Amino acid sequence: MSEDTVMTQPAEAQSPEMTKGLCKELSIVLAKFPRVRLGHLPTPLEPMDRLSEMLGGPRIWVKRDDCTGLSSGGNKTRKLEYLMADAQAQGADTIITQGATQSNHARQTAAAAAKLGMACHILLEDRTGFNDPNYILNGNVLMDRLHGATVSKRGDGTDMNAEMDAVAEKLKSDGHKPYVVPGGGSNPIGALGYVNCARELSEQAVDLGLKIDALVHATGSSGTQAGLVTGLAAVQSDIHLLGIGVRAPQEKQEQMVWDLAQRTAAKLGTGLEIDRDMVRANCDYVGPGYGLPTEGMKMAVRLLAETEGLLFDPVYSGKGLDGLIDLVRKGHFGDMENIVFLHTGGSAALFGYPETFDLPGYTN
Ligand SMILES: *Cc1c(COP(=O)(O)O)cnc(C)c1O
Repeated sequence: MSEDTVMTQPAEAQSPEMTKGLCKELSIVLAKFPRVRLGHLPTPLEPMDRLSEMLGGPRIWVKRDDCTGLSSGGNKTRKLEYLMADAQAQGADTIITQGATQSNHARQTAAAAAKLGMACHILLEDRTGFNDPNYILNGNVLMDRLHGATVSKRGDGTDMNAEMDAVAEKLKSDGHKPYVVPGGGSNPIGALGYVNCARELSEQAVDLGLKIDALVHATGSSGTQAGLVTGLAAVQSDIHLLGIGVRAPQEKQEQMVWDLAQRTAAKLGTGLEIDRDMVRANCDYVGPGYGLPTEGMKMAVRLLAETEGLLFDPVYSGKGLDGLIDLVRKGHFGDMENIVFLHTGGSAALFGYPETFDLPGYTN
């Protein structure tokens, strides 16, 4: 065990009945908010036994939010169920959003807009400077275009919110009704999707008779973690939640998550308080920067593909897994028995990074 091993509190375990009751109450609160069904929910919760055996520590499970079904799936689908319902409620006919070139969020938003009969404008920020034609045109970008979105590019460091507002103004003056979805779908409305996921996972664990000790996932624009923090607090869960950062340094990341979690809790309107110490991010696995490959990510993506038949991505879930694997090896999770990795999706981006994995060629 290393110095920063997590100490689990010998807390009074919550009874299954109490968990179910709190989940039921939370679903009643969530039912106040307009929602359009876009995802295949609940997503499966499955053990990763070969990985667990290899690491020789806790049993590791995967929550398959890569299987949400919308245009190859991913975590943005849950957020879009609430965001697109809000857009519909406001009478929008056009969705505007932004992301990095290989944005999974942009792809799922384009698909949601297509399904709901809305136009979609996507602004892609070049955060990596990569010129590989696959990076620029394949993977998520191919899918954005297949879904009929209008795609335009912006340089690194552009004020993307200002750019979206400018596109919205232009569309308004042409008689359209645009609705701006923030990058990553991360605002209190989008985060409701992960409040709902926390409820779903808590119920699933009761049904399986499983005591989940920790939940680990990749954290970026923060809506996923903020929603989970809020949802877990609402059901009084003692699951140790840990985000693995993909962009910002730790202090900034935790601040973003905490801020959004507090606003999400306020939106629920139940007086729920979010303590600062419920927000934990480890940002040691970012490497040289957002969307830039690391050796650990490559190893993790190949390992899971080879041992579990699962596909992860270079930008988010691969770095999240790198963090999980390294922390398990370092004994960070102490004597915890069950750890869930939330698979947030993103494998469509693999096709934008074909040269990254140093794979062997054909054999004769
Ligand atoms: C967007 C994304 C994340 C991060 O979720 P946030 O809510 O932005 O923090 C993680 N994994 C994948 C695959 C994503 O596309």
